[in-house]
Amino acid sequence: MNPFKNPIFMSKVLKSYLFDIDRLWRLNEYDLQKYKDKHLKKMVRFAYTVPVYHDKYKKAGVHPKDIEGIKDIKKLPLISKDEIKKYYPEGIISSKIRREQLIEVSTSGTTGKSLSIYVDMFDIVMGLFGYLRTLKEYGINWRKDKITIIGDFASHTAESGYITRGLVPQLKLDFLLKNIQWLNTNDKPSKLIEEIDRFKPVFIGGYVGMLGHLAVLKEKGYGKNIRPRYIASTGSLLDKNLRKFIEETFDAFVFEAYGATESGPIAFQCRDGKYHIMSDLVHLEFLKDGKKVSSGEPGNLVITKLFGNGTPIIRYDAINDIVSPLYEECDCGLSGDLIAKIYGRDDLSLLLSNGKLLLPSSFGEIFSKILYKLKANKIKDVKIIQQSLTKIEIQVVIDEELRNLGPSVEEIFSILKQGFQEKVGPQVEIFTKEVKKIDKQKPRIISKVDRSKLKITGYI
Ligand SMILES: [Zn+2]
Repeated sequence: MNPFKNPIFMSKVLKSYLFDIDRLWRLNEYDLQKYKDKHLKKMVRFAYTVPVYHDKYKKAGVHPKDIEGIKDIKKLPLISKDEIKKYYPEGIISSKIRREQLIEVSTSGTTGKSLSIYVDMFDIVMGLFGYLRTLKEYGINWRKDKITIIGDFASHTAESGYITRGLVPQLKLDFLLKNIQWLNTNDKPSKLIEEIDRFKPVFIGGYVGMLGHLAVLKEKGYGKNIRPRYIASTGSLLDKNLRKFIEETFDAFVFEAYGATESGPIAFQCRDGKYHIMSDLVHLEFLKDGKKVSSGEPGNLVITKLFGNGTPIIRYDAINDIVSPLYEECDCGLSGDLIAKIYGRDDLSLLLSNGKLLLPSSFGEIFSKILYKLKANKIKDVKIIQQSLTKIEIQVVIDEELRNLGPSVEEIFSILKQGFQEKVGPQVEIFTKEVKKIDKQKPRIISKVDRSKLKITGYI
């Protein structure tokens, strides 16, 4: 049965549509903690009906009744990507839920290790509400104002699961969606800018790379009617210079939204620029060698999702993001915890001979220079291979249509080389190489360095 035609489900959706969006404004810290405790207990009980968690908890000698709330979360063992993979498909859904009610989504294959999990329609709605909440912070009326969302609608992704396979075909709530334009980030920037120009949104949400491309086009005179008030970037880290370039080009305020396929929305930046965790939807832990880090100190992100009837995500340690918490309060009045900095995926990082880990936040800084400095968007694809501790190869695919426009390929290569050199120091040799094609199924960042012999001493 279509859950959106089910009156019980619909009333659940409407209830959440009225209350969930506002929760972080409505609840004080104490009530939010109580809310989290209640939902964690519920999720752990639910997870106990899911074979992968059931077996794991049994083995660890922990039972749902041992978990009274967030304070007990450490009693639960961490779960890895491989464990979930091992139990896929039947073992990662609850014996109480029928598989037909669920939608399968996969994480992106940037590392070559993609993971399939299940989500339900409620997850899908909550995912969207998480997004709408960020709009509320900026005074955008998501029922009236025109909103453009540029998602990754490749067939396997969460967004395609959420939107094209889940929400849009089934949801008859036209009022919710008629002012929303959905675009596909896999389309050409030149095509997207024309469509956005016709739609004239007040808000644009999209991936960092695509927003950068659109800003370059806008700067060149395309999309004259595009005048959004706000732009949200997602997917990877937004370098501060690229942010400035996008803000100035569109004359709009840019903020970041942070999420993951496995968990849905995680955090967003408020008007004061602080990253607020959607603490009613997820609980985050920041660990280093199994211990909680201090405020501002980078740690491995461990995530627990507090809702949903699909594959539970409880103390999941494989988002692989390095993130530092901020144990402070923000003046903006939102409840919930804060993040100081998101460094990016540590499985997409390069380990240098001094023990420093070069994280995606650095790659972002280097590559975004091509956009904001050279105003060039002719890089179509890129792959980084660390051949050894002293040798890094950068493979670049150049867009043939743009090859002879603007700055030369040599100029682009020299900016990349210089950017990497500044980060890794003179002892590492940087090679740039133009290639015709990069296999999209294979990892984009590869390190041939054996990490077991080195100790990580810090992050770049
Ligand atoms: Zn704030």
